[in-house]
Amino acid sequence: MKPRVLTVAGSDSGGGAGIQADLKTMLALGVHGMSVVTAVTAQNSLGVQGAWELPAEAVRAQYRSVVDDIGVQAVKTGMLASAELVETVAGLIGGTDVPTVVDPVGISKHGDSLLADSALDAVRTKLLPVATVATPNLDEVAQLTGVRVDSEGQLREAAAAVLSYGPRWVLIKGGHLPGDAVDLLTDGSEEHWLRAPRHDNRHTHGTGCTLASAIASQLAMGRSVPEAVTEAKAYVTGAIAAGFALGKGIGPVDHGW
Ligand code: PLP
Repeated sequence: MKPRVLTVAGSDSGGGAGIQADLKTMLALGVHGMSVVTAVTAQNSLGVQGAWELPAEAVRAQYRSVVDDIGVQAVKTGMLASAELVETVAGLIGGTDVPTVVDPVGISKHGDSLLADSALDAVRTKLLPVATVATPNLDEVAQLTGVRVDSEGQLREAAAAVLSYGPRWVLIKGGHLPGDAVDLLTDGSEEHWLRAPRHDNRHTHGTGCTLASAIASQLAMGRSVPEAVTEAKAYVTGAIAAGFALGKGIGPVDHGW
């Protein structure tokens, strides 16, 4: 049977990030993608012009519809907007043993907030503890743990700080550092350093969503966490290399390369 993967995330009307990037990734990787929409954004290549979160009841109902009938082999969470939705989603996921990739989305590349400051505590204490893999970038690490990373040597400290909240694995995305794009995947004992050459391409909208969805898709296909992350990194590296101009601002990564 085709593996089934669920994204719990926000909609990006521009089609570059969020639910839309997740479903494109899942299609490209050959799994059946499903969605629980948490928020709707009015968004394009220039930024986020508006955002509206859904009631917790609507999030719970979408989740139950999907899980009770179709079933899921892996979940990815993205934009959760508020403390109430973070707690709702953590409660739904915490009751299962389905592998879950938590992308602790905080601020978009354009600097638009996708998570209320009042939700940070719920991310730390409710969502991270139920994650199989958490995938923060360096801004999210700083926001969640206070650890600021300026060099590759500090990635270990960042990983330990995130792991202290309880995810089984953490993938610290060092892509914003100068030089090669270096990520550290660790569960506190094993360490995997993932390195990819930097592509000189500014059209990278949707990178984080794509990576997290690719990891969830690989987990649903039965891969181990290190295998899933390695495959997913190769996928996102190709998608970034093929990122293309759209609108007047930052275009999306491409899923059709
Ligand atoms: N919009 C939505 C709905 C998202 O979920 C995300 C990221 O997770 C973004 C925008 C930001 O995407 P980026 O930072 O790649 O531009």
